[in-house]
Amino acid sequence: MATTDTVLRPDHASRRRHFIFTEEHDQLRESIGSFVEKELQPHAQEWEESTFPNWVFQRMGELGFLGLSYPEEYGGQGGDYYCNLVLAEEMTKSNSGGLAMGVAVHTDMATPPIFLFGTEEQRQRYLVPAIKGEKISCLGITEPDAGSDVAGTKTRAVRDGDEYVINGSKTYITNGHRADFIVLVTKTDPDAGYDGFSLFLVDMDLPGVIREKKLEKLGMHASDTALLAFQDVRVPAEAILGQEGKGFYHIMWELQGERLIGAAGCVAGAQRCFDRTLEFAKERTAFGRPIGRFQVIRHKFAEMATKIEAARQMVYTTAWRFEHGEYPVREISMAKLHASRVAVEVADECIQIHGGAGYMKEYGVERVWRDMRLNRIGAGTDEIMLDVIGRSYGI
Ligand SMILES: Cc1cc2nc3c(=O)[nH]c(=O)nc-3n(C[C@H](O)[C@H](O)[C@H](O)COP(=O)(O)OP(=O)(O)OC[C@H]3O[C@@H](n4cnc5c(N)ncnc54)[C@H](O)[C@@H]3O)c2cc1C
Repeated sequence: MATTDTVLRPDHASRRRHFIFTEEHDQLRESIGSFVEKELQPHAQEWEESTFPNWVFQRMGELGFLGLSYPEEYGGQGGDYYCNLVLAEEMTKSNSGGLAMGVAVHTDMATPPIFLFGTEEQRQRYLVPAIKGEKISCLGITEPDAGSDVAGTKTRAVRDGDEYVINGSKTYITNGHRADFIVLVTKTDPDAGYDGFSLFLVDMDLPGVIREKKLEKLGMHASDTALLAFQDVRVPAEAILGQEGKGFYHIMWELQGERLIGAAGCVAGAQRCFDRTLEFAKERTAFGRPIGRFQVIRHKFAEMATKIEAARQMVYTTAWRFEHGEYPVREISMAKLHASRVAVEVADECIQIHGGAGYMKEYGVERVWRDMRLNRIGAGTDEIMLDVIGRSYGI
Protein backbone atom coordinates (compact mmCIF):
# COMPACT_ATOMS: atom_id res chain seq x y z
CA MET A 1 0.00 0.00 0.00
CA ALA A 2 1.24 3.47 -0.84
CA THR A 3 2.18 5.59 2.12
CA THR A 4 2.75 9.32 2.32
CA ASP A 5 6.39 8.55 2.73
CA THR A 6 6.77 6.50 -0.48
CA VAL A 7 4.46 8.58 -2.69
CA LEU A 8 5.49 12.06 -1.72
CA ARG A 9 9.22 11.71 -1.27
CA PRO A 10 10.98 13.60 -4.09
CA ASP A 11 13.28 11.30 -6.04
CA HIS A 12 16.02 13.76 -6.95
CA ALA A 13 18.61 11.04 -7.35
CA SER A 14 16.61 8.94 -9.82
CA ARG A 15 18.84 7.62 -12.58
CA ARG A 16 15.98 6.54 -14.86
CA ARG A 17 17.12 6.86 -18.45
CA HIS A 18 15.17 8.82 -21.03
CA PHE A 19 12.67 6.72 -22.99
CA ILE A 20 14.56 7.02 -26.27
CA PHE A 21 17.50 5.08 -24.83
CA THR A 22 17.83 1.37 -24.10
CA GLU A 23 20.24 -0.77 -22.12
CA GLU A 24 22.39 -1.10 -25.25
CA HIS A 25 22.72 2.67 -25.40
CA ASP A 26 23.80 2.64 -21.76
CA GLN A 27 26.49 0.09 -22.57
CA LEU A 28 27.63 2.12 -25.55
CA ARG A 29 27.72 5.22 -23.35
CA GLU A 30 29.84 3.37 -20.83
CA SER A 31 32.34 2.16 -23.41
CA ILE A 32 32.67 5.50 -25.27
CA GLY A 33 32.83 7.42 -21.99
CA SER A 34 35.58 5.27 -20.53
CA PHE A 35 37.58 5.42 -23.78
CA VAL A 36 37.26 9.22 -23.89
CA GLU A 37 38.26 9.61 -20.25
CA LYS A 38 41.21 7.24 -20.47
CA GLU A 39 42.62 7.90 -23.92
CA LEU A 40 41.57 11.41 -24.94
CA GLN A 41 40.95 13.52 -21.84
CA PRO A 42 44.56 13.26 -20.54
CA HIS A 43 45.76 15.03 -23.71
CA ALA A 44 43.17 17.81 -23.72
CA GLN A 45 45.51 20.53 -22.54
CA GLU A 46 48.32 19.58 -24.89
CA TRP A 47 45.95 19.46 -27.88
CA GLU A 48 44.67 22.95 -27.12
CA GLU A 49 48.14 24.07 -28.17
CA SER A 50 48.87 21.68 -31.03
CA THR A 51 45.44 20.51 -32.34
CA PHE A 52 44.57 16.85 -31.85
CA PRO A 53 46.51 14.17 -33.76
CA ASN A 54 45.11 12.00 -36.54
CA TRP A 55 45.55 8.79 -34.55
CA VAL A 56 42.34 9.72 -32.75
CA PHE A 57 40.42 8.83 -35.92
CA GLN A 58 42.31 5.56 -36.38
CA ARG A 59 41.73 4.56 -32.78
CA MET A 60 38.05 5.50 -32.83
CA GLY A 61 37.70 3.60 -36.12
CA GLU A 62 39.23 0.49 -34.55
CA LEU A 63 36.78 0.75 -31.67
CA GLY A 64 33.83 1.10 -34.06
CA PHE A 65 32.88 4.60 -32.86
CA LEU A 66 33.01 6.31 -36.26
CA GLY A 67 30.17 4.37 -37.84
CA LEU A 68 27.71 3.77 -35.02
CA SER A 69 24.57 4.13 -37.11
CA TYR A 70 25.90 2.95 -40.47
CA PRO A 71 25.06 -0.58 -41.65
CA GLU A 72 27.45 -3.40 -40.86
CA GLU A 73 28.07 -4.05 -44.56
CA TYR A 74 30.02 -0.76 -44.62
CA GLY A 75 31.85 -1.51 -41.40
CA GLY A 76 29.35 0.33 -39.22
CA GLN A 77 27.66 -0.89 -36.04
CA GLY A 78 24.13 -0.89 -37.43
CA GLY A 79 22.79 1.21 -34.55
CA ASP A 80 20.08 3.86 -34.54
CA TYR A 81 20.37 7.64 -34.57
CA TYR A 82 20.39 7.77 -30.78
CA CYS A 83 23.84 6.12 -30.84
CA ASN A 84 25.13 9.28 -32.54
CA LEU A 85 23.61 11.34 -29.72
CA VAL A 86 25.44 9.14 -27.22
CA LEU A 87 28.73 9.73 -29.06
CA ALA A 88 28.19 13.51 -29.17
CA GLU A 89 27.35 13.55 -25.47
CA GLU A 90 30.22 11.34 -24.35
CA MET A 91 32.78 13.25 -26.43
CA THR A 92 32.28 16.22 -24.10
CA LYS A 93 34.16 14.18 -21.49
CA SER A 94 37.30 14.87 -23.49
CA ASN A 95 37.27 18.43 -22.09
CA SER A 96 38.02 19.57 -25.61
CA GLY A 97 35.35 21.19 -27.75
CA GLY A 98 37.72 21.28 -30.70
CA LEU A 99 38.29 17.54 -30.57
CA ALA A 100 34.57 16.78 -30.24
CA MET A 101 33.86 19.06 -33.20
CA GLY A 102 36.56 17.51 -35.41
CA VAL A 103 35.12 14.06 -34.81
CA ALA A 104 31.50 15.21 -35.25
CA VAL A 105 32.34 16.82 -38.60
CA HIS A 106 33.58 13.40 -39.73
CA THR A 107 30.79 11.22 -38.28
CA ASP A 108 27.74 13.47 -38.52
CA MET A 109 28.41 16.06 -41.20
CA ALA A 110 30.70 14.91 -44.01
CA THR A 111 29.91 11.18 -44.15
CA PRO A 112 26.06 11.12 -43.87
CA PRO A 113 25.57 12.59 -47.38
CA ILE A 114 27.89 9.88 -48.79
CA PHE A 115 25.77 7.19 -47.21
CA LEU A 116 22.46 8.74 -48.25
CA PHE A 117 23.25 10.10 -51.71
CA GLY A 118 26.44 8.26 -52.73
CA THR A 119 26.80 5.51 -55.32
CA GLU A 120 27.96 2.08 -54.19
CA GLU A 121 31.41 2.88 -55.56
CA GLN A 122 31.57 6.16 -53.59
CA ARG A 123 30.48 4.39 -50.43
CA GLN A 124 33.23 1.81 -50.86
CA ARG A 125 35.86 4.39 -51.73
CA TYR A 126 35.05 7.03 -49.09
CA LEU A 127 32.55 5.84 -46.50
CA VAL A 128 34.16 2.48 -45.69
CA PRO A 129 37.65 3.91 -44.99
CA ALA A 130 36.08 6.87 -43.16
CA ILE A 131 34.30 4.47 -40.80
CA LYS A 132 37.60 2.63 -40.25
CA GLY A 133 39.31 5.94 -39.48
CA GLU A 134 41.69 5.44 -42.39
CA LYS A 135 40.40 8.46 -44.32
CA ILE A 136 39.53 11.75 -42.67
CA SER A 137 36.77 13.92 -44.09
CA CYS A 138 35.75 17.55 -44.09
CA LEU A 139 32.77 19.49 -45.37
CA GLY A 140 33.08 22.58 -47.56
CA ILE A 141 30.05 24.85 -47.61
CA THR A 142 31.21 28.25 -46.36
CA GLU A 143 33.09 30.67 -48.61
CA PRO A 144 34.72 34.00 -47.90
CA ASP A 145 31.68 35.73 -49.47
CA ALA A 146 28.97 33.18 -48.74
CA GLY A 147 28.26 31.87 -45.23
CA SER A 148 24.66 32.16 -44.09
CA ASP A 149 23.72 32.84 -47.68
CA VAL A 150 24.62 29.44 -49.14
CA ALA A 151 22.85 30.44 -52.36
CA GLY A 152 25.66 32.97 -52.84
CA THR A 153 28.19 30.14 -53.39
CA LYS A 154 30.74 31.09 -56.02
CA THR A 155 32.81 27.90 -56.27
CA ARG A 156 32.19 26.68 -59.82
CA ALA A 157 32.38 23.21 -61.31
CA VAL A 158 32.38 23.29 -65.11
CA ARG A 159 31.95 20.17 -67.23
CA ASP A 160 34.81 19.41 -69.61
CA GLY A 161 34.34 16.10 -71.41
CA ASP A 162 34.32 13.31 -68.83
CA GLU A 163 35.58 15.64 -66.11
CA TYR A 164 34.61 18.69 -64.10
CA VAL A 165 36.99 21.56 -63.47
CA ILE A 166 36.55 23.20 -60.07
CA ASN A 167 37.57 26.74 -59.13
CA GLY A 168 36.81 28.65 -55.95
CA SER A 169 37.56 28.86 -52.27
CA LYS A 170 36.13 27.69 -48.96
CA THR A 171 36.80 29.04 -45.51
CA TYR A 172 36.52 28.07 -41.83
CA ILE A 173 36.73 24.42 -42.86
CA THR A 174 37.07 22.13 -39.84
CA ASN A 175 39.53 19.26 -40.47
CA GLY A 176 40.53 21.10 -43.66
CA HIS A 177 44.24 20.69 -43.01
CA ARG A 178 44.16 17.02 -42.12
CA ALA A 179 41.37 15.76 -44.39
CA ASP A 180 41.89 13.15 -47.12
CA PHE A 181 38.74 14.26 -48.92
CA ILE A 182 36.13 16.98 -48.87
CA VAL A 183 32.39 16.99 -49.53
CA LEU A 184 32.34 20.15 -51.59
CA VAL A 185 29.40 22.43 -52.39
CA THR A 186 29.69 23.94 -55.87
CA LYS A 187 27.57 25.65 -58.47
CA THR A 188 27.30 23.74 -61.71
CA ASP A 189 24.68 26.01 -63.30
CA PRO A 190 24.80 29.61 -62.05
CA ASP A 191 21.58 30.48 -63.88
CA ALA A 192 19.46 27.75 -62.32
CA GLY A 193 19.02 29.24 -58.83
CA TYR A 194 18.61 26.58 -56.14
CA ASP A 195 18.66 23.93 -58.90
CA GLY A 196 22.16 24.92 -59.99
CA PHE A 197 24.15 23.36 -57.12
CA SER A 198 26.05 20.08 -57.07
CA LEU A 199 28.08 18.29 -54.41
CA PHE A 200 31.43 16.71 -55.24
CA LEU A 201 33.70 14.28 -53.46
CA VAL A 202 37.16 15.72 -53.97
CA ASP A 203 40.43 14.08 -52.91
CA MET A 204 42.48 16.67 -51.08
CA ASP A 205 45.76 15.57 -52.68
CA LEU A 206 44.63 16.44 -56.22
CA PRO A 207 46.65 19.07 -58.10
CA GLY A 208 45.11 22.51 -57.57
CA VAL A 209 43.77 21.84 -54.06
CA ILE A 210 45.59 24.36 -51.89
CA ARG A 211 45.42 24.32 -48.12
CA GLU A 212 46.06 27.93 -47.35
CA LYS A 213 46.07 29.35 -43.86
CA LYS A 214 45.47 27.53 -40.59
CA LEU A 215 43.07 30.00 -39.05
CA GLU A 216 43.50 31.28 -35.48
CA LYS A 217 40.34 31.36 -33.43
CA LEU A 218 38.67 32.30 -30.12
CA GLY A 219 38.03 28.71 -29.02
CA MET A 220 37.85 25.14 -30.35
CA HIS A 221 41.64 25.29 -30.34
CA ALA A 222 42.15 21.55 -30.64
CA SER A 223 40.50 21.57 -34.09
CA ASP A 224 42.16 22.74 -37.28
CA THR A 225 40.28 25.32 -39.32
CA ALA A 226 41.32 25.93 -42.90
CA LEU A 227 41.07 28.40 -45.70
CA LEU A 228 41.09 26.30 -48.89
CA ALA A 229 41.53 27.21 -52.55
CA PHE A 230 40.58 25.14 -55.59
CA GLN A 231 42.43 26.11 -58.72
CA ASP A 232 41.52 24.21 -61.89
CA VAL A 233 40.99 21.02 -59.91
CA ARG A 234 40.00 18.23 -62.29
CA VAL A 235 37.72 15.50 -61.02
CA PRO A 236 35.96 12.74 -62.99
CA ALA A 237 32.24 13.16 -63.63
CA GLU A 238 31.65 10.25 -61.20
CA ALA A 239 32.87 12.52 -58.39
CA ILE A 240 29.44 14.16 -58.25
CA LEU A 241 27.74 13.20 -55.00
CA GLY A 242 23.99 12.78 -55.37
CA GLN A 243 22.04 14.31 -58.21
CA GLU A 244 23.59 16.96 -60.39
CA GLY A 245 21.74 20.22 -59.77
CA LYS A 246 20.28 19.03 -56.45
CA GLY A 247 23.26 19.85 -54.24
CA PHE A 248 21.48 22.69 -52.45
CA TYR A 249 18.72 20.38 -51.24
CA HIS A 250 21.24 17.67 -50.35
CA ILE A 251 23.25 20.06 -48.20
CA MET A 252 20.12 21.44 -46.51
CA TRP A 253 19.34 17.84 -45.49
CA GLU A 254 22.89 17.43 -44.18
CA LEU A 255 22.57 20.60 -42.11
CA GLN A 256 19.61 19.19 -40.18
CA GLY A 257 21.69 16.30 -38.78
CA GLU A 258 24.60 18.66 -38.15
CA ARG A 259 22.38 21.03 -36.16
CA LEU A 260 20.76 18.33 -34.07
CA ILE A 261 24.03 16.67 -33.17
CA GLY A 262 25.50 20.09 -32.34
CA ALA A 263 22.53 20.74 -30.06
CA ALA A 264 23.13 17.42 -28.26
CA GLY A 265 26.77 18.37 -27.71
CA CYS A 266 25.69 21.75 -26.34
CA VAL A 267 23.37 20.18 -23.78
CA ALA A 268 25.98 17.65 -22.65
CA GLY A 269 28.70 20.31 -22.52
CA ALA A 270 26.47 22.61 -20.47
CA GLN A 271 25.61 19.77 -18.09
CA ARG A 272 29.28 18.96 -17.59
CA CYS A 273 30.14 22.57 -16.90
CA PHE A 274 27.21 22.74 -14.46
CA ASP A 275 28.36 19.60 -12.62
CA ARG A 276 31.92 20.84 -12.21
CA THR A 277 30.72 24.22 -11.03
CA LEU A 278 28.34 22.63 -8.54
CA GLU A 279 31.27 20.79 -6.96
CA PHE A 280 33.17 24.06 -6.84
CA ALA A 281 30.23 25.89 -5.21
CA LYS A 282 30.04 23.22 -2.49
CA GLU A 283 33.72 23.57 -1.66
CA ARG A 284 34.52 27.24 -2.12
CA THR A 285 33.73 29.26 0.97
CA ALA A 286 33.14 32.97 1.48
CA PHE A 287 31.79 34.80 4.49
CA GLY A 288 32.01 31.59 6.48
CA ARG A 289 29.95 29.28 4.26
CA PRO A 290 30.13 27.44 0.95
CA ILE A 291 29.13 29.88 -1.79
CA GLY A 292 26.41 27.44 -2.94
CA ARG A 293 24.60 28.27 0.29
CA PHE A 294 23.96 31.84 -0.81
CA GLN A 295 20.48 32.02 -2.22
CA VAL A 296 21.61 34.02 -5.20
CA ILE A 297 24.07 31.27 -6.18
CA ARG A 298 21.54 28.53 -5.49
CA HIS A 299 19.10 30.26 -7.80
CA LYS A 300 21.73 30.49 -10.52
CA PHE A 301 22.01 26.70 -10.39
CA ALA A 302 18.23 26.35 -10.43
CA GLU A 303 17.99 28.58 -13.51
CA MET A 304 20.79 26.72 -15.28
CA ALA A 305 19.41 23.28 -14.47
CA THR A 306 15.97 24.25 -15.75
CA LYS A 307 17.35 25.61 -18.99
CA ILE A 308 19.56 22.57 -19.55
CA GLU A 309 16.69 20.18 -18.89
CA ALA A 310 14.37 22.04 -21.27
CA ALA A 311 17.04 22.00 -23.99
CA ARG A 312 17.67 18.30 -23.41
CA GLN A 313 14.00 17.45 -23.79
CA MET A 314 13.85 19.42 -27.03
CA VAL A 315 16.87 17.57 -28.41
CA TYR A 316 15.63 14.11 -27.40
CA THR A 317 12.07 14.63 -28.60
CA THR A 318 13.29 16.02 -31.91
CA ALA A 319 15.76 13.14 -32.28
CA TRP A 320 12.89 10.73 -31.63
CA ARG A 321 10.90 12.29 -34.49
CA PHE A 322 13.99 12.23 -36.75
CA GLU A 323 14.60 8.56 -35.95
CA HIS A 324 10.98 7.80 -36.81
CA GLY A 325 11.39 9.11 -40.33
CA GLU A 326 10.10 12.65 -39.89
CA TYR A 327 11.98 15.68 -41.19
CA PRO A 328 11.29 18.13 -38.35
CA VAL A 329 13.21 21.14 -39.66
CA ARG A 330 11.36 23.62 -37.44
CA GLU A 331 12.03 21.67 -34.25
CA ILE A 332 15.65 20.96 -35.20
CA SER A 333 16.15 24.70 -35.72
CA MET A 334 14.50 25.41 -32.36
CA ALA A 335 16.64 22.80 -30.60
CA LYS A 336 19.83 24.13 -32.21
CA LEU A 337 18.96 27.74 -31.37
CA HIS A 338 17.92 27.03 -27.81
CA ALA A 339 20.63 24.51 -26.89
CA SER A 340 23.46 26.68 -28.19
CA ARG A 341 22.14 29.75 -26.37
CA VAL A 342 21.72 27.75 -23.16
CA ALA A 343 25.27 26.36 -23.44
CA VAL A 344 26.75 29.85 -23.75
CA GLU A 345 24.59 31.23 -20.92
CA VAL A 346 25.48 28.33 -18.64
CA ALA A 347 29.20 28.59 -19.36
CA ASP A 348 29.06 32.33 -18.70
CA GLU A 349 27.23 31.84 -15.41
CA CYS A 350 29.67 29.10 -14.39
CA ILE A 351 32.57 31.52 -14.89
CA GLN A 352 30.72 34.00 -12.67
CA ILE A 353 30.19 31.41 -9.94
CA HIS A 354 33.89 30.53 -10.04
CA GLY A 355 34.83 34.17 -9.53
CA GLY A 356 38.46 34.88 -10.46
CA ALA A 357 39.11 31.17 -10.76
CA GLY A 358 36.60 31.09 -13.62
CA TYR A 359 38.85 33.40 -15.58
CA MET A 360 41.83 31.10 -15.10
CA LYS A 361 42.60 28.33 -17.58
CA GLU A 362 43.23 25.87 -14.77
CA TYR A 363 39.53 25.48 -13.98
CA GLY A 364 38.43 24.80 -17.54
CA VAL A 365 35.20 26.79 -17.54
CA GLU A 366 36.64 29.64 -19.59
CA ARG A 367 37.46 27.09 -22.30
CA VAL A 368 33.87 25.82 -22.29
CA TRP A 369 32.64 29.38 -22.76
CA ARG A 370 35.05 30.04 -25.65
CA ASP A 371 34.28 26.69 -27.30
CA MET A 372 30.52 26.95 -26.85
CA ARG A 373 30.38 30.43 -28.31
CA LEU A 374 30.89 28.92 -31.76
CA ASN A 375 27.60 27.08 -31.60
CA ARG A 376 25.59 30.28 -31.94
CA ILE A 377 27.41 30.90 -35.25
CA GLY A 378 28.42 27.59 -36.85
CA ALA A 379 25.99 25.35 -38.75
CA GLY A 380 23.63 28.31 -39.10
CA THR A 381 23.63 31.39 -36.88
CA ASP A 382 20.98 32.23 -34.26
CA GLU A 383 19.57 34.76 -36.69
CA ILE A 384 19.25 32.18 -39.46
CA MET A 385 17.63 29.69 -37.07
CA LEU A 386 15.10 32.35 -36.06
CA ASP A 387 14.39 33.04 -39.71
CA VAL A 388 13.88 29.34 -40.52
CA ILE A 389 11.53 28.99 -37.54
CA GLY A 390 9.64 32.20 -38.36
CA ARG A 391 9.23 31.33 -42.02
CA SER A 392 7.92 27.88 -41.11
CA TYR A 393 4.75 29.68 -39.95
CA GLY A 394 4.22 31.06 -43.43
CA ILE A 395 5.36 34.60 -42.68
C1 LIG B 1 35.37 27.49 -35.93
C2 LIG B 1 34.46 27.39 -37.11
C3 LIG B 1 34.35 26.17 -37.77
C4 LIG B 1 33.53 26.06 -38.91
N1 LIG B 1 33.51 24.88 -39.61
C5 LIG B 1 32.91 24.86 -40.83
C6 LIG B 1 33.04 23.71 -41.68
O1 LIG B 1 33.64 22.70 -41.32
N2 LIG B 1 32.48 23.76 -42.91
C7 LIG B 1 31.79 24.86 -43.36
O2 LIG B 1 31.32 24.85 -44.49
N3 LIG B 1 31.65 25.96 -42.57
C8 LIG B 1 32.20 25.98 -41.33
N4 LIG B 1 32.07 27.10 -40.54
C9 LIG B 1 31.34 28.25 -41.06
C10 LIG B 1 30.03 28.60 -40.34
O3 LIG B 1 29.03 27.66 -40.62
C11 LIG B 1 29.68 30.03 -40.78
O4 LIG B 1 30.59 30.89 -40.14
C12 LIG B 1 28.26 30.42 -40.43
O5 LIG B 1 27.34 29.72 -41.24
C13 LIG B 1 28.01 31.92 -40.62
O6 LIG B 1 28.45 32.37 -41.87
P1 LIG B 1 29.41 33.67 -41.95
O7 LIG B 1 30.54 33.46 -41.03
O8 LIG B 1 29.74 33.91 -43.38
O9 LIG B 1 28.56 34.85 -41.40
P2 LIG B 1 27.58 35.79 -42.25
O10 LIG B 1 26.66 34.97 -43.05
O11 LIG B 1 28.39 36.82 -42.95
O12 LIG B 1 26.75 36.49 -41.09
C14 LIG B 1 27.19 37.64 -40.38
C15 LIG B 1 26.04 38.10 -39.49
O13 LIG B 1 24.92 38.47 -40.30
C16 LIG B 1 23.78 37.75 -39.87
N5 LIG B 1 22.92 37.42 -41.00
C17 LIG B 1 23.29 36.89 -42.20
N6 LIG B 1 22.21 36.69 -42.95
C18 LIG B 1 21.15 37.10 -42.23
C19 LIG B 1 19.74 37.14 -42.46
N7 LIG B 1 19.20 36.68 -43.59
N8 LIG B 1 18.94 37.62 -41.49
C20 LIG B 1 19.46 38.09 -40.33
N9 LIG B 1 20.78 38.06 -40.05
C21 LIG B 1 21.60 37.57 -40.99
C22 LIG B 1 24.34 36.48 -39.24
O14 LIG B 1 23.41 35.89 -38.38
C23 LIG B 1 25.57 37.02 -38.53
O15 LIG B 1 25.19 37.59 -37.32
C24 LIG B 1 32.81 27.19 -39.37
C25 LIG B 1 32.90 28.41 -38.68
C26 LIG B 1 33.72 28.52 -37.57
C27 LIG B 1 33.83 29.86 -36.90
